[in-house]
Amino acid sequence: MRIDLHTHSRTSDGTDSPAELVAAAARAGLDVVALTDHDTFDGLPEAFDAGREHGVRVVGGVEVSTDLDGHSVHLLGYGCDLTAPALAAELGRNREGRGDRLPLMCAQLTEAGVPVSVEEVLEAAAGAPAVGRPHVADALIARGHVADRKEAFDLYLAEGRPGYVERYSTPLGLAIDLVHGSGGAAVLAHPWGRGSSRVLTVPVIEGLVRDHGLDGVEVDHSDHDEAARRELGALAERLRVVATGSSDYHGTGKKDHPLGLNTTTPAAFEELLHAMNDHRSRGR
Ligand code: AMP
Ligand code: FE
Ligand code: FE
Ligand code: ZN
Repeated sequence: MRIDLHTHSRTSDGTDSPAELVAAAARAGLDVVALTDHDTFDGLPEAFDAGREHGVRVVGGVEVSTDLDGHSVHLLGYGCDLTAPALAAELGRNREGRGDRLPLMCAQLTEAGVPVSVEEVLEAAAGAPAVGRPHVADALIARGHVADRKEAFDLYLAEGRPGYVERYSTPLGLAIDLVHGSGGAAVLAHPWGRGSSRVLTVPVIEGLVRDHGLDGVEVDHSDHDEAARRELGALAERLRVVATGSSDYHGTGKKDHPLGLNTTTPAAFEELLHAMNDHRSRGR
């Protein structure tokens, strides 16, 4: 069984449609794939249909933008009720924050010598409900300012670069509670990747498990080196939470992130299904 629990479609900042992504998962030999677009469930119905067509089990997911002490942390929610009003409202706030920052980002980029307009960014996003910096990157590529998304982030879009603008994200503890309240399981995405290792220390993760019932941590992820994977895996075992592995596939948007690059063991997937069942039946 090959299981990949973190992927993105064009509904957020991936480049495949949800159906194309599931078809690609089938070709890649995956038995289970979770679609986890940023701050939206909109791609899931199409992905579920494609899963039935291609014989791939599709897990409904979302990657929630959250904030911990002013730092960006990504939280994966699995098996949430897509209509749960409190979670849906909060995802809507996050999407609004994504849109609201665009005029300032474009002004700052123009100031930095790489002019781009909000219209061009929205054209690059092609109707995606969750507009992200990768779409800004695509607009910069279309203008010929940069060669690819990576160069756009390195030069202009990463935190501390001239095009960076803060946006609203759900407080992390609240995000975990809302995922649980919608009957889903909550897993920290790439906790020691990029900037988040500074805030998601061992005591902080212990606190999230103790105080919010965090269900798991993503261990095998390309943003983690071998040492981080070993240490996080041991931590998950000690805290008795699920250790997942995934590709964080973004289609052609992220190089070297093919589907199935990292996978979740069948045993860990069973534990995650148990957690999802518990939260659903608790219906809190
Ligand atoms: P945003 O959702 O607007 O905060 O943008 C963050 C997203 O940009 C992440 O989820 C990644 O998909 C993507 N991203 C971050 N850094 C890079 C990079 N260096 N190259 C390509 N994509 C990136
Ligand atoms: Fe992304
Ligand atoms: Fe992420
Ligand atoms: Zn992701």
